Amino acid sequence: MKKNIIVRHIVIISGLFVLLLFIWRCPLEYLFGIPCPCCGMTRAFKSMARLDFAASFSYHPLFLPTGFAIWYIFHKDVLPERFRLKKKTARILGGVLLFLLLALYIYRVGFQPDGVIKIDLDDGLIFKIMRAIQGG
Ligand SMILES: [Zn+2]
Repeated sequence: MKKNIIVRHIVIISGLFVLLLFIWRCPLEYLFGIPCPCCGMTRAFKSMARLDFAASFSYHPLFLPTGFAIWYIFHKDVLPERFRLKKKTARILGGVLLFLLLALYIYRVGFQPDGVIKIDLDDGLIFKIMRAIQGG
């Protein structure tokens, strides 16, 4: 059981490391030029690693609850019973977080208060390929 957990952590952490090193950009933004509701999260966590919480918050105000939710999803099975959320509580909190992520996304796309979330269709790979095919 313990060995299994260690292996799981090594796989996930090295997977994230490879993603960060080689992909760097959000796949949705890379392909279509449209940022996703979690865009800015990586920069938020990198800023947090430098203890720059103001920058973290400006990159993605929901980086902490989202990070905790992801951590919880992967660790709930190995947490002691008293630290586990009841199923109903977890569903409600997850729903609230999804709603907040979506509301924040609509606000950031609509008003672009911080410049982190920008729709730039011309920058998407799909449109670059289409332009190349058209020869323009
Ligand atoms: Zn994204």
